[in-house]
Amino acid sequence: MTSDNPSYLIIGGGVFGVSTAYYLIQKYPNASVTLVDRDAYDAESRVAASWDWNKVVRADYDDKVYCRLALEAQDIFKSDPLWQPYFHQTGVYWTCRSSYAQNVINNHKELGRDDDIIALPVSEARMLYGGIFDNADYTGVKEVLINRASGWAAAGDALRAVTKRCLELGVKYVTADVAALQFNGRGSCTGAKMKSGRVLSATHTVVAAGAFTPTLLEMSAATSGNPGLRAGERILAAGITTGMAQLNEEQHQKYRDMPVGFQGYTPDEGKPFIGTLPPTKDGELKWWGSKIFTNTREVLPGRHISSPPPTFDYNQWKVPGPLKQDIVESRNLWYGPASADWEMTKHRICWDAFTTTSDFIISPHSASKGLYLATCGSFHGYKFFPVLGKYVVQMLEGELSPDLEEKWAWDRQRPDSSENVEYPNAEMKHLLQPTSKL
Ligand SMILES: Cc1cc2nc3c(=O)[nH]c(=O)nc-3n(C[C@H](O)[C@H](O)[C@H](O)COP(=O)(O)OP(=O)(O)OC[C@H]3O[C@@H](n4cnc5c(N)ncnc54)[C@H](O)[C@@H]3O)c2cc1C
Repeated sequence: MTSDNPSYLIIGGGVFGVSTAYYLIQKYPNASVTLVDRDAYDAESRVAASWDWNKVVRADYDDKVYCRLALEAQDIFKSDPLWQPYFHQTGVYWTCRSSYAQNVINNHKELGRDDDIIALPVSEARMLYGGIFDNADYTGVKEVLINRASGWAAAGDALRAVTKRCLELGVKYVTADVAALQFNGRGSCTGAKMKSGRVLSATHTVVAAGAFTPTLLEMSAATSGNPGLRAGERILAAGITTGMAQLNEEQHQKYRDMPVGFQGYTPDEGKPFIGTLPPTKDGELKWWGSKIFTNTREVLPGRHISSPPPTFDYNQWKVPGPLKQDIVESRNLWYGPASADWEMTKHRICWDAFTTTSDFIISPHSASKGLYLATCGSFHGYKFFPVLGKYVVQMLEGELSPDLEEKWAWDRQRPDSSENVEYPNAEMKHLLQPTSKL
């Protein structure tokens, strides 16, 4: 294979990988584009962070770059027939304990958007939406940001639909577990080897393996003898717990038109943004916990890194008691004592890849030609699904704008995580009772 005849192997069928495949096959309809994932795209349950009942699709960013990209993505969610059926414009209700609301509003103004976005005093905001957030915790809240243009997406359904569209356009989908990347004698990446022994070759290999990315790079460093492949301090795999409650008919009526809720915290308060999403059509209400935890384990002899549990499903449905308790505490921050008897139907640990700045990594890998990264959703990547691939293709072709190239680079200066409330804040084993096992 030569670069005159490029072919693309994308490892990981989450939003980073699928969006990349979608943009590639539209630009190069005759190219060989292969997605490989350990789970079938239409499986009942997947480990992908992108596979979920719902994800927040908001453009309420104080970072101007992500604000602009989120608006670009949201416009597609609202208008393109491929995405539009999955988007629900319920609005966002965001308690702000810092100047977040004003920063977001300023960004929207500077970007020339006149979206329906305002900041209200607590006393006024808590009366909105039939007072459903009247029992929330408003300690330290300065004002509440309301953005009626934001909302949520039926995440797994949208992922399945876009993947299906990719296949119709000619993308190949291989269900297999990738064991390690493959290299030629000059150290260039030539594809990947599956655990079955099958080899998939390509001129361009894009690792979009989400939380598994650092582990896959460790395995590849070991098999190739190239330690420069390792992620090192750049990427941290971490999990967070979500919970779902089945509402009864009366409760469902009460909450069915609610907006997405966010409790916003500052670094001093030591909590991430805690979100709650409107009920699904079956009346299940979802929210997430406040613990974002690493799982440091020995992935190879003498190599300790954070990695999801080494089972086919990352043990995502085996949620120990202390993490279920985290869900109870987060529920109380929103719904107060009246929610104590809600019937909990699901708990899940969802794994993602993080950088200290919450910036993505969309970049060539500096240790091997032909190898690229598209990852590090950092707990906020889903909403960019409709545009991620556009930027990955620009990266593959050396056409990213200089600011994005620098922001998403594999090799860059990164500040520590002290100002980032969304960065992992605990080690999983420390959160568990001594008798709990994962
Ligand atoms: C609880 C939770 C809530 C979130 N809420 C939001 C939200 O509301 N809004 C938002 O915008 N973002 C949200 N995010 C973040 C968002 O979900 C992620 O950033 C994004 O989905 C990451 O996409 P990805 O493609 O990088 O990874 P993933 O979706 O995890 O996909 C990676 C894929 O790689 C595959 N893979 C990994 N290793 C291998 C291997 N060795 N062989 C074969 N396949 C492999 C996996 O099977 C998986 O399908 C949330 C994340 C979590 C955890």
